[in-house]
Amino acid sequence: MKSGFDYSRNFIFVPLLLSALLALSACSANPATGEQSFTAFMSPEREKEVGREEHPKIIKAFGGVFDDAEIGAYVADIGGRLSQHSEMPDLVWTFTVLNDAKINAFALPGGYVYITRGLLSLASNEAEIAGVLSHEIGHVTARHTAQRYSSTVATSIGLQVLGALGSAAGIPSVTGDAVALGAKAVLQGYSRDQELQSDMLGVRYMTRAGYDPDAMTSFFTKLRVHQRIEGMMAGNADAAEQSNIMATHPRTAERIEQAIELASEAGAGPQKNGSRLNADKYLSLIDGMVFGDDISQGLVRGNSFIHPEMGIRYDVPDGFRLFNSPANVTAIKKDEAKIIFDYIPPKAAKQANSLKDFVVRMWAGRAGLSEVEHININGMNAVTGLTRSKGNDLRLVGIEDEYGGIYRLLFISNPKVTKELNIPFRNTTYSFRKMTADEIKNVKPYRIRLYRVQAGDSPASLAGMLALDEYREEWMEVLNAITPETELSAGTLIKIISE
Ligand SMILES: [Zn+2]
Repeated sequence: MKSGFDYSRNFIFVPLLLSALLALSACSANPATGEQSFTAFMSPEREKEVGREEHPKIIKAFGGVFDDAEIGAYVADIGGRLSQHSEMPDLVWTFTVLNDAKINAFALPGGYVYITRGLLSLASNEAEIAGVLSHEIGHVTARHTAQRYSSTVATSIGLQVLGALGSAAGIPSVTGDAVALGAKAVLQGYSRDQELQSDMLGVRYMTRAGYDPDAMTSFFTKLRVHQRIEGMMAGNADAAEQSNIMATHPRTAERIEQAIELASEAGAGPQKNGSRLNADKYLSLIDGMVFGDDISQGLVRGNSFIHPEMGIRYDVPDGFRLFNSPANVTAIKKDEAKIIFDYIPPKAAKQANSLKDFVVRMWAGRAGLSEVEHININGMNAVTGLTRSKGNDLRLVGIEDEYGGIYRLLFISNPKVTKELNIPFRNTTYSFRKMTADEIKNVKPYRIRLYRVQAGDSPASLAGMLALDEYREEWMEVLNAITPETELSAGTLIKIISE
């Protein structure tokens, strides 16, 4: 990562940051003139090419483009204005809202910036979104994204070899997992020094565009509370979601405050006069927006996974928690067991001679399968068998649909608990079924709705308005920065969640 850098440029910077920047070795900034000069790493032309090549793969890996033209245009407009205040106003910037319930934002080299629908649901005003976008623009202009992409390309050569052994025809096997290069690049975290630099650049761009930089801090506070919820859901804070904004952008509140201060000293600080939040406009825009997974992605409701578009559903045993992602659905019982569900489309499934051939040869592969049997699950043909991998007991269940695709349920358990999970796993297998037309019709996603606080409302009564199974008070803090101690004033517009 060190080779190819040009150290000849002058570092004219706040002395405190000098060592950090030397370690970063990627760019030098001249806050006196506000101009940036960058060292060569990947040519700007190559950066644009990489962005262009990876762009469609990122869209595919993160739930597709969010199908709301008004919100898409709004985000592109904010991003476009911010980019005009960056050091690369002539780059063709592309801002994309991904239809992903996860809270994330990232960038590719060459000016491709992404934020998720999940992230939009957290923001309370336009300035908070501007803070996220300007931070991502900072990663591009400082060329962190090019560096990160390059190092991912280097390490993924090893990965490809592993993938070739572990999977047949791109089908994730029990021993390997296929992750697109671009997706892997964006899921890799930046260094803390890069984060500080992007925050400083972000503050610069957003203040130049007239936004209040404190929105960067207020949004970060929400992200911290959200991370706490994910930690509680996973059973501990360390096991929190690894592919969200906190993992891809490791930051702390102190460092963001530091960035705002440093940017301010450098002459790009808060311009309180005329600084914008645009709260009401933003809230009315996201009123009615889907919250969490949408119908096309399948929904987690309690211990059930429901996919009305595929027309299927199944239940997991008590003690398991379901997590939905574009690649698969995972149910986890901490330290004991896991159930992974996914779907192999007909085209890929047809590379096998039969369902049994698929399960035994293409899925289990070298791991080998014993006690293979044909079973009937609620009228559907299925093949199941047992194996062991990485010290765990595995049960594979492949279920054929009428189009030739295959639903896969993979039960993974610590050998200590395999016996006691035998019946619960069996129950999950046989809970898998087609939904009726009525059931499909009645499934509704959650949506963000606006509510005006009235006299007599309390933080607790507002939390009760969130149609969620748990952690309502925490979600009220994540969505509206309202804690049990907040003194409410009537007339304030807030977000609630309902079907
Ligand atoms: Zn970042």
